[in-house]
Amino acid sequence: MSGSVIIAGLGPGASQWITPEVAAALDQATDLIGYAPYVARVPLRAGVERHGSDNRVEIDRAQHALRLATEGRRVVVVSSGDPGVFAMAAAVFEAVDHGDPAWRELDIKVLPGISAMFAAAARVGAPLGHDFCAINLSDNLKPWPLVEQRLHLAAQAGFVIALYNPLSKARPWQLGRALELLRNELPGTVPVIFASAVGDAREAIDIVSLSDADPQRADMRTLLLIGSVHSRLIERAGGAPPFVYTPRSIGATA
Ligand code: SAH
Repeated sequence: MSGSVIIAGLGPGASQWITPEVAAALDQATDLIGYAPYVARVPLRAGVERHGSDNRVEIDRAQHALRLATEGRRVVVVSSGDPGVFAMAAAVFEAVDHGDPAWRELDIKVLPGISAMFAAAARVGAPLGHDFCAINLSDNLKPWPLVEQRLHLAAQAGFVIALYNPLSKARPWQLGRALELLRNELPGTVPVIFASAVGDAREAIDIVSLSDADPQRADMRTLLLIGSVHSRLIERAGGAPPFVYTPRSIGATA
């Protein structure tokens, strides 16, 4: 039997955000590989080997998946959100690129998922309605000055910015520094959305202005959306949170 590696996105937390395509792949798997909390999100099924691991060993995990596939196993590597956004798909291809030439001949597929930025945006309205970018605030895999340069340029270019991995125990100051930098580039009135644990019971969404954005509000399961000068709030009566959207057209002449 020939093996395969499927790299599947589980979405940001809720099982209704797992696509039918991913659910079918999970049903066929002989082995599940991924960061332990993500593997734990997949319902138990008899006969499936679960290989949960620490979050930091992505390349080891990718190589493990590829080795199992060469032994004929049907391996599903799980990521949260979309597997191509700051997640396992790139790690698997990096392992293939630099690894055993036989791995290139394996059946390898990526199944998309709902990324945290799309789930967070949907909760508040349509903040990603115009041009936007996504920046991973972690400086584990790139130097911090590069993060700062990208934040500067993204703000100057007028992108709405999705910020992934805003902080961790090992990276306590980076988000504060990023917000300070953005306050130098953008008016304090632009909306900032803190979206935490979107899709599970602890979900919390806050809409504040950039001048009021407090880095302490974020944790490891928070995604930030930094609006642009064109992003707008639609206030609502009765204590309902405002809608946030960014208009489709900016300065276009018909
Ligand atoms: N592949 C994932 C991102 C992995 S990086 C995706 O496409 O969503 C991990 C970061 O994603 C977290 O630090 C956080 O910024 C964001 N994230 C993941 N799940 C989230 C959720 N349920 N709610 C809010 N942010 C989330």
